[in-house]
Amino acid sequence: MNKVYLLLGSNAGNRKDFINSAIRQLISKGCICIAMSSFYETAAWGKEDQPDFLNLVICIETSLSPTELLNLNQEIEKSAGRQHTEKWAQRTLDIDILFYNNDIIDLPDLKVPHPFLQDRRFTLIPLAEIAPGLIHPGFKKTVVQLLAECPDKLEVRKT
Ligand code: ADP
Ligand code: MG
Repeated sequence: MNKVYLLLGSNAGNRKDFINSAIRQLISKGCICIAMSSFYETAAWGKEDQPDFLNLVICIETSLSPTELLNLNQEIEKSAGRQHTEKWAQRTLDIDILFYNNDIIDLPDLKVPHPFLQDRRFTLIPLAEIAPGLIHPGFKKTVVQLLAECPDKLEVRKT
């Protein structure tokens, strides 16, 4: 089994329902959810003229390969009605693979650890809730250290 951390986010429609439904779909495909953070609300990052995001991080165990998991996540995003339009645009559901075991993956359509995780408080704060001591295999720093050094100042509120 592989241990994987996923960030789920939504900023359109019934945000909590989209996220809860995504977790149920992952479980129905054999993923075992072993930890779940609280829900957090954040102003949109990168492209700010849009509604606030709801985010959480889960830890799953899965036998799916990284590419199989990416494909499953994209199917679940589609089932939530997500349109792949503009970068960082409003979306019903976004699922990002943050870590896959200790692996460093550099494929054209899949970079793990997620290349922006150290820049985004909305990722690091829920991650630190469930995995504070987890070590980033590239930077060799814990999640708590990455959070302390993160330049992002957007407020992230526990809901
Ligand atoms: P973002 O999550 O940065 O807002 P998108 O969800 O639109 O952007 O993702 C765009 C592309 O990012 C996807 O088509 C996917 O192939 C690629 N990608 C690269 N690395 C990852 C990762 N670790 N997790 C999820 N998607 C990734
Ligand atoms: Mg994404």
